[in-house]
Amino acid sequence: MLRCSVCRRRAAFYARRYSGERLCRRCFSESIEGKVRTTISRYGMFRFDDRIAVAVSGGKDSINLLHILWKIEKDYPKATLCAVTVDEGIRGYREEAIRIARENCEALGVEQITVSFKEIFGYTLDEIVEKTREKGQTPCAYCGVLRRRALNVAAEEAGADKIATAHTLDDEVQTFLLNMLHGDPMRIIRSGPRFISDDKRFTPRVKPFCEVLERESVLYAYVKGIKFQENPCPYAGWALRNDVRSFLNRLEERHPGIKYTLYRSFERIREAYAWQAEETTIRPCRVCGEPTAGEVCQVCRIISELDLV
Ligand code: SF4
Ligand SMILES: [Zn+2]
Ligand SMILES: [Zn+2]
Repeated sequence: MLRCSVCRRRAAFYARRYSGERLCRRCFSESIEGKVRTTISRYGMFRFDDRIAVAVSGGKDSINLLHILWKIEKDYPKATLCAVTVDEGIRGYREEAIRIARENCEALGVEQITVSFKEIFGYTLDEIVEKTREKGQTPCAYCGVLRRRALNVAAEEAGADKIATAHTLDDEVQTFLLNMLHGDPMRIIRSGPRFISDDKRFTPRVKPFCEVLERESVLYAYVKGIKFQENPCPYAGWALRNDVRSFLNRLEERHPGIKYTLYRSFERIREAYAWQAEETTIRPCRVCGEPTAGEVCQVCRIISELDLV
């Protein structure tokens, strides 16, 4: 029997190639929880009395994050946790995800607030896809912008001090490369594990999973017996992100640890250009009043385009 290289007692079930460790189930799940705790303290993500809104979609990463933060929150009696879920309106997909998110929230006794694209913007994502079929934009381009706003609406409704999203290390590295591929490399300075602005109009956002690999997130859910939605979004295949994901997975397979190396490189670039973020002027959108770097925010631009179609 191959023993776990951490506790040296139990049988190993997982070989973590990037570190050379062999881990038993318990040491593996403790290592993921430990990683999240370290990330939270390294980036000073929470205060002891925060009301934290976890963005829970029903997918593995967000459900795992909910379970882990629920555990951590027990050590901070003044902090409270709630879940915010966005119903984008994707027929045959979102209903199941929302049901699974609700079941997990109920099992943990966490309050859940759900908002929908339809009630906030007047359109479901399916309707948007239908209307913009000719434009050549991927559904994700609309979905991402609108979901960020919808999460803000839900967090405000929840009275949250912070929004915690379950972006994994894979998501982060993919986003960095996508920014490059879209010709917008400086967007890197506006992303990152912690976005806390002095501007009170922004609900601060944190990413406690930003150092967890996606494949280890799947494994964590299986080890813990956590239920999540396994079917992918029907629009996911349309996105360039999908190709970037496969490319990075192939690289990681051949060169274990390369995703972490890339992540650290991007972090150093972000730190070097942090001064630029401070110089960006944020003002209220001329239409909706929400904070934006331009005259009119992206959400209002999307909605006015849709209203014309
Ligand atoms: S894959 Fe794209 S369209 Fe589907 S939920 Fe994610 S961002 Fe939205
Ligand atoms: Zn062990
Ligand atoms: Zn606006």
